[in-house]
Amino acid sequence: MNSILRLSFFLLLLILVSFGTSNSFAAVRPPNIVIIFADDLGYGDLECYGHPSIKTPHLDRMAAEGMRFTDFYVAACVCTPSRAALLTGRLPIRNGMAGGQGRHVLYPNSPGGLPLEEVTIAEALKTKGYATACIGKWHLGRPKEFLPPAHGFDYFFGIPFSNDMEPEGKLPRNASGLTEPDPKWWNVSLINGKEVIEKPTDQATLTKRYTEEAIRFIRENKKKPFFLYLPHTFPHVPLFASRDFYGKSARGIYGDTVEELDWSTGQILQALQKEKLDKNTLVVFTSDNGPWLVKDLTGGSGGLLRDGKGGTWEGGMRVPAIAWWPGKIKAGTVNRELAGTMDLFSTALSLAGVEEPKDRIMDGVDMTPMLLGKGASKRDMHFFYYGDELYAIRKGQFKAHFVTHDGYSKEPPQRHDPPALYHLGHDPSEKFNVAPQYPEVIAQILEEREKHEGAMVKREPVY
Ligand code: MG
Repeated sequence: MNSILRLSFFLLLLILVSFGTSNSFAAVRPPNIVIIFADDLGYGDLECYGHPSIKTPHLDRMAAEGMRFTDFYVAACVCTPSRAALLTGRLPIRNGMAGGQGRHVLYPNSPGGLPLEEVTIAEALKTKGYATACIGKWHLGRPKEFLPPAHGFDYFFGIPFSNDMEPEGKLPRNASGLTEPDPKWWNVSLINGKEVIEKPTDQATLTKRYTEEAIRFIRENKKKPFFLYLPHTFPHVPLFASRDFYGKSARGIYGDTVEELDWSTGQILQALQKEKLDKNTLVVFTSDNGPWLVKDLTGGSGGLLRDGKGGTWEGGMRVPAIAWWPGKIKAGTVNRELAGTMDLFSTALSLAGVEEPKDRIMDGVDMTPMLLGKGASKRDMHFFYYGDELYAIRKGQFKAHFVTHDGYSKEPPQRHDPPALYHLGHDPSEKFNVAPQYPEVIAQILEEREKHEGAMVKREPVY
């Protein structure tokens, strides 16, 4: 009797322990997070966003199996501040990356970088044991003390800033707009950790090598949660594609580079499926700013949106965005709510079970309920900064511009008092100023501006 009792007790204990272990395993294994960030890819540059001659079957499939956003924004219309906002969940004016010293992005000789006091997604997730990697273009500070290893990334493989920023002296005029530039002209450094491993970088192989590195990182870290930040080099000009893609698309070299990014994304999704990680990984694909229109044929397209990179019209800051998480995000969802890259910080932390920093103002919201189909977007406004100046505010379907300036235009900025007002539902191309019809909307938005600017504490940038 005694031994039977002892045996039953032992069995019960075994059941409880194994039940507890499997449960706590689920609780301590938060989802992996992968952010794929194209550079200068426009709102109209993917097939699933209406491009007629660029083929993007893998991204289209990602959208068909996941969620495609129609109203997804970046926090800045150029590289550096946009990246700083994504990684910190804070407006560039707050995190010190809004631009300064006459510059809108960091340059190779800039002494500064993303301030070390800022908390990046990588740093926050590391507190829960995530493995972290930045594979691709950094552009948040070239000095070693600002490279990804200083910002919570275990691993960095990529280029320190844009691929046109270390040109050698004899660079031909308008070389960045040529369809067949010489890689030697660009003299780009490829970095592993903090050390240069190749110069000039063979740019035609970059997308392939980033993809291989990303898949290796996924495989090597499949037993623990990971955060993979994959900011691609292209389609920022100068454009290069590997032999498998060069000359293959119907949209010239621009299309070649986008189709290679599409292939790369397909490879990453396939690797996640192969490793049986797809059901526990959120993948987000988006772009850092709109198309670089002044590059003519080597620049992309904002589709029906007005203007592109370097400006605060919709084409500069509304970008393609796709979220994928089989079994969690309902397949084939088109999300028309307001969302943006700054929300990825709060979302990642929420999924990982990490508390947000309490000692600073955050500008993102947690998208998890919206991604999982359990709630609406918590965002109803977006602020459009050009450098450290607030140019426009979107609230609901209305966008009020206080200042307008086309990207890279030599014309001086135009100031609007009262603001120019566009209804983005009726008029996504921002063609028809409806300010006279909606004085109450203007009054509301001006009130929001006063609140926002009244409480703003700017961090002085070191550019
Ligand atoms: Mg960019």
